[in-house]
Amino acid sequence: MSLLRVSNLSMSFGGVKAVDDVSFDVNPGELLALIGPNGAGKSTCFNIVNGQLRPTRGSVTLDGHELVGMRPRDIWRRGVGRTFQVAATFNSMTVLENVQMALVSHEKRLYGLWKRAASHFEEEAIALLDQVGMATHAQRACSVLAYGDVKRVEMAVALANRPKLLLMDEPTAGMAPQERNDLMALTKRLAIERNIGVLFTEHSMDVVFASADRMIVLARGKLIAQGDADTIRNDANVQAVYFGTGKTFRPHATLSRDIPKGSHE
Ligand code: ADP
Ligand code: MG
Repeated sequence: MSLLRVSNLSMSFGGVKAVDDVSFDVNPGELLALIGPNGAGKSTCFNIVNGQLRPTRGSVTLDGHELVGMRPRDIWRRGVGRTFQVAATFNSMTVLENVQMALVSHEKRLYGLWKRAASHFEEEAIALLDQVGMATHAQRACSVLAYGDVKRVEMAVALANRPKLLLMDEPTAGMAPQERNDLMALTKRLAIERNIGVLFTEHSMDVVFASADRMIVLARGKLIAQGDADTIRNDANVQAVYFGTGKTFRPHATLSRDIPKGSHE
């Protein structure tokens, strides 16, 4: 059975159909990229799955359990994690402290209290930091980290909650190309090791083709194609919406009036 099943999802804002009858699945251990031009409805899909938005119609199930109507916090408890959802205090703590705090919060979620002193989470926190390649930075203040390293700590924080599904809306925004590939390669390795399904958006088609197992393409709220890299590259509908080198997704000229200048990335 699929981990996440999105069925006939629609979301209207006033007269705008931001998401229009979209259905797709995410399997455990799979990286599914949600791609499409700005305004295609990608973030709206994410925000419905995580409970920030309630869809006009449709269903979202995790392990067969309906998520529509649940509060974001309860959806998170069920195992839908997000990166880039770190605490407001993130920068005031060390790398290690941030991951320890996430582990404490996970134990609270399981037992309604934490049974161990925060210091006892240290070993587990170091192990998580080791998995994201940040163990040697454990004692550093998060405020002094390089951008790519902050993303790795955020990944460790997300993993502390033992997610079944990880939602990553533009995780590599602001990163250099090599950093993007590194972060998605790390995500892919962790998804396989921990059997986590990952739903992500990404602007660079190089990165998408290198990391995603499968992709779905949205345009003006509608799902216009899905499949592996070859299927997407050769899809006539996708080519009608995008043209270019195959390296970067460039919106077609007829769609460009929908795309505010400079809002891309
Ligand atoms: P993407 O993430 O693919 O760029 P979005 O999901 O952010 O696209 O937006 C899809 C469409 O829905 C756009 O036309 C956008 O203007 C509209 N939209 C998104 N959020 C809201 C909102 N809260 N209120 C009104 N319109 C919205
Ligand atoms: Mg978006």
